[in-house]
Amino acid sequence: MRQPLVAGNWKMHGTRAGINDLVTGIKQGMTAGITAEVALCPPFVYVTDTGRMLADSSIALGAQNLCAERGEGAYTGEVSGAMLKDAGCTFVIVGHSERRALYGEGDALVAKKFFAALAAGLTPILCVGELLGERERGDTEAVVARQLDAVLLQEGGVAGLAQAVIAYEPVWAIGTGRTATPEQAQEVHAYIRGRVAEHDRAVADKLRILYGGSVKANNAPELFAMADIDGGLIGGASLDAGQFVAICRAAS
Ligand code: PEP
Repeated sequence: MRQPLVAGNWKMHGTRAGINDLVTGIKQGMTAGITAEVALCPPFVYVTDTGRMLADSSIALGAQNLCAERGEGAYTGEVSGAMLKDAGCTFVIVGHSERRALYGEGDALVAKKFFAALAAGLTPILCVGELLGERERGDTEAVVARQLDAVLLQEGGVAGLAQAVIAYEPVWAIGTGRTATPEQAQEVHAYIRGRVAEHDRAVADKLRILYGGSVKANNAPELFAMADIDGGLIGGASLDAGQFVAICRAAS
């Protein structure tokens, strides 16, 4: 039995005051009925503040990115996995499509970040997903396989996935209000699980695969009802406490 996970990705949104209100609202909504694991991923500069606010709750802290380099060094502007761990993070998102598209992160760099996260004792949330054109050309599985294999086929890849979470995020559904149908999402989730199972069935069975892409309170129940969808990576709706809490309830 996989415990569902709902992770909020705040992207580059928020102010100290706004985050205070948001976290207060989310904490108030975390009533007994919510059994899903919940995590919040603020911008770097607010990680410590958010962690302080979450200290008396069961909500985990995450980050949206990390440096691929391990240890300390002359990497101006970068934040290491060790720093995130030290700041109280449990999770870190790697390979988000916005980082792939806007900051040129390719599969090799994403894989390097994935293993850097593990080395720091963080749980990577590895994002995979196809562009609209790739889906229309029938390339969804090939794209997802390529992104997954960049980690899976490396030495320690299967063992790494045993400590990780995958988020399937069709790029055409992120921030667009256009959601994959539960059947479309389930098909890709099952494909991902099957591909991992070719290497290790037990790891595949335990692997949490989140769906991301315009998840809202109203579409979450039908998405989370699918057999291979183990929660969500939530962007826009994670900035609204009521919406986010309702999504966490739907995953529970
Ligand atoms: C995301 O940022 O990972 C995401 C899925 O965003 P949204 O929920 O806004 O589509």
